[in-house]
Amino acid sequence: MITLHIGPMGSGKSAALINLYHLKALQKHRVTAVKPYLKEESNEISSRNGQSIIANLIPTTGEITTEFDTDKFDTIIIDEAHFFTGNDFIHWITNLKQNKNIHIGMLDTDYMTEQFETYKALLPLIDHEIYYKRRCQICNNKMADYTMRTKGGNSRFEVGKNLYICACKDCYKPFTPTE
Ligand SMILES: [Zn+2]
Repeated sequence: MITLHIGPMGSGKSAALINLYHLKALQKHRVTAVKPYLKEESNEISSRNGQSIIANLIPTTGEITTEFDTDKFDTIIIDEAHFFTGNDFIHWITNLKQNKNIHIGMLDTDYMTEQFETYKALLPLIDHEIYYKRRCQICNNKMADYTMRTKGGNSRFEVGKNLYICACKDCYKPFTPTE
């Protein structure tokens, strides 16, 4: 079974996944966490409220190494899945879905409001979708729909603190690099 946790940056997805991890562990479920391997980041899934858990790192191509033995687990929690590209990740999830509980946290759209291909590929596979909300950081009134880039270059995947804010449809503006 697959539950997708969707929402703009900072809407509480990672915090919810960390809570879920601890709950499953308390219930004696065999639970593990996964995140994409990104050079700039650690092997922790961390939330803005300061909590973190250790995760298995998987290449963004979605190639699963033999060292990561999913047979040992019933529940697999995956965060930042929008970084996974290509079909290997989707095949892996399709196989796991047969007999495991999978929770996937991700952004649905990129900084230009385009849906990630991985999100579109997951949609037919999922059983539940939970949408997380957060208020627009520009008008501070409406709920945010998008993660909007405010700094950096124009590659689709850019990791860094303070590069993004969350914006509603009315406040959102496409990013143009200044440097
Ligand atoms: Zn707004």
